[in-house]
Amino acid sequence: MSEVVTQEHHDNVAVVTIDSPPVNALSAAVRRGIFENIKTAAADPKIEAIVLTCGGRTFIAGADITEFGKPPQEPGLNEVISTIENCGKPVIAAIHGTALGGGLEVALGCHFRVAVKEAKLGLPEVKLGLLPGAGGTQRLPRAVGPELAVKMIVGGDPISAADAQTNGLIEEVVEDRIQGGIAFAKKVLAEKRPLRKLRDDDSKLAAAKADRSIFTNAVAAMTKKARGLEAPFAAADAVGAAIDYPFDEGLKKEREGFMKLVSSDQSKAQRYAFFAEREAAKVAGVPEGTKPRPVNRVAIIGAGTMGGGIAMSFANAGIPVTLIETGEEQLKRGMGTMQKNYENTAARGGIPADAPAKRMGLITGVVGLENVKDADLIIEAVFETMQIKKEVFTALDAYAKPGAVLASNTSYLDINQIAAVTKRPQDVLGMHFFSPANVMKLCEIVRAEKTAPDALLTAVAVARKIAKVPAVVGVCDGFVGNRMLAQRGKQSEKMLYEGALPQQVDAVVTKFGLPMGPFAMGDLAGLDIGWRSRQDRGIKSPIGDALYEAGRHGQKTQKGYYKYESGSRSPLPDPEVEKLIEETVAKLGIKRRQISDDEILERMVYPMINEGARILDEKIASRPSDIDVIWLYGYGWPIYRGGPMFYADQVGLKHVADRLSHYAKETNDPSLEPAPLLKKLADEGKTFASLAKA
Ligand code: NAD
Repeated sequence: MSEVVTQEHHDNVAVVTIDSPPVNALSAAVRRGIFENIKTAAADPKIEAIVLTCGGRTFIAGADITEFGKPPQEPGLNEVISTIENCGKPVIAAIHGTALGGGLEVALGCHFRVAVKEAKLGLPEVKLGLLPGAGGTQRLPRAVGPELAVKMIVGGDPISAADAQTNGLIEEVVEDRIQGGIAFAKKVLAEKRPLRKLRDDDSKLAAAKADRSIFTNAVAAMTKKARGLEAPFAAADAVGAAIDYPFDEGLKKEREGFMKLVSSDQSKAQRYAFFAEREAAKVAGVPEGTKPRPVNRVAIIGAGTMGGGIAMSFANAGIPVTLIETGEEQLKRGMGTMQKNYENTAARGGIPADAPAKRMGLITGVVGLENVKDADLIIEAVFETMQIKKEVFTALDAYAKPGAVLASNTSYLDINQIAAVTKRPQDVLGMHFFSPANVMKLCEIVRAEKTAPDALLTAVAVARKIAKVPAVVGVCDGFVGNRMLAQRGKQSEKMLYEGALPQQVDAVVTKFGLPMGPFAMGDLAGLDIGWRSRQDRGIKSPIGDALYEAGRHGQKTQKGYYKYESGSRSPLPDPEVEKLIEETVAKLGIKRRQISDDEILERMVYPMINEGARILDEKIASRPSDIDVIWLYGYGWPIYRGGPMFYADQVGLKHVADRLSHYAKETNDPSLEPAPLLKKLADEGKTFASLAKA
């Protein structure tokens, strides 16, 4: 008798229920339970039909991914599914919640499917660097046709119950899964409907068999943004096999593709990232039982680049915000930018046509800080100057209601100092969003010395509510992400003096999989910003200063490290820049040399890893995986490389440490010497991951 799968009989219908919290994942026990219950119901002479359903909050939400990489346990999922499919009595999947991955594959093995209105159905394996490995790539195209199958399998996003019904993935939308499932089963019996085995039904493949471009066009559309990833292409091939081969052969091709991916470095990295993101939401060092404070009203200070993007993130989640500026003119500009942004997205089809008005309706723009008085959470996004931040927080202390959480979006400044101007430092913390804030998913939650645990949890909970990925960090210059980025920036600039060109450095970085190299990023942000900050701090940068003085301020002047054609954001290498670099360096008496792409990559990435080690040592981040989450969601680190700390473990810490020592000597830069923690782990033959386990 299975403990997680049970059956009840309603007249001649057996209702087989899986109850394995939290999400009824397909563990060995669940697979065995389904297998046994289908067999007993099939053998029971009183039973004429079987409804397969789940208890708890959802239908089977996927495989048990903790089993990946371990020795397989019987029965395999394919065996369970073919037992269902070959059962002589109709089997009906009755779906609520999400039928995902292996869950949908089980449902596809059933002869009929019904679902409640709120249900979602999908095959998201590709997001873990995998493809559906239990017949999903063969049965889904037979259920819905190859075009939608490609969309769902290569893209990985689920569809609604209504769409599933329109496209033949489910038979009916029902009110109640159990009653609806039983009623549907009785209807099937009464109508003597033949059992529908998807494996034997090629009718929806006919069009694509006759004209393969139906399939290839769908694949081209879905893989446009899959640069560097293996899984979307392998998943598309598997769907292609459904069109080109008989079912059993297609199943074999699917299996081969799955086995190849499951042991690939990419999928390992993607599965690691999946767990890292979940782990990051668990805040270390908070007393058990701490609850976040309720947040009903939110105020944002500053309607500039960041304040506007943050306000949009709240509006996108349906949460009203008050957006506060210093004057009507600034407010008008800020509101106008958001409106245009929404309209552009709607014009591209990214959001429904009525969304701009609806979402703008949730953002109330006002002038004057006294308007924060009802807010439970206030996020400050004014100019990056300590003096101004202190003035704003002094005012917030005067106007905000007791218990309101006061957050700063500062990129670099010391939150402890900001908190110290208030009489409520326990309520002050950082919520560091990334630009563009309505798009980028990361939010570094900065815990200051006196931040109260419940204030911290409030920020984490709110970040999740607006679909951000929170990662808790400590106070230091640039927190985790920008502090590591600074190390990369330093090396990229040095390499220009030593012999590299901006386009060479950027090409290495984008080939590695990041969306943009440091010089293209500089042009995007504006080279005048760096110049002004160097002026403030009395720092010289001969190449940077020469560019600035030549009027090359980046994209805004159509010239920076690159040139830009009018209206275009595509960086074009510029021989003038090469000349300017050579002349500047010659004046300094430095002889330039050829720098290899390998050296560029190592000097871009290893110093960041080194800084990551210091950050862990100082407990600014509590887990190496938190650092990886920050790079994945704040900077576009390629998911198939897991994050810088994961990548370091793959390369080997000894190698990373040795190369850093080498460059420290070679380029006379002691800051490149391996950090104590990196050196220690390398000497002991350990990984960063070993710290998380310890
Ligand atoms: P911004 O110049 O675009 O916007 C700042 C806005 O704040 C302006 O509209 C200004 O009028 C308003 N403001 C100034 N003082 C105010 C006051 N007392 N009350 C109300 N409004 C006031 O700047 P930004 O790029 O949005 O940066 C804002 C903050 O976010 C800074 O701390 C910055 O370091 C941080 N940040 C910026 C980025 C980025 O890429 N731009 C990324 C992460 C964090």
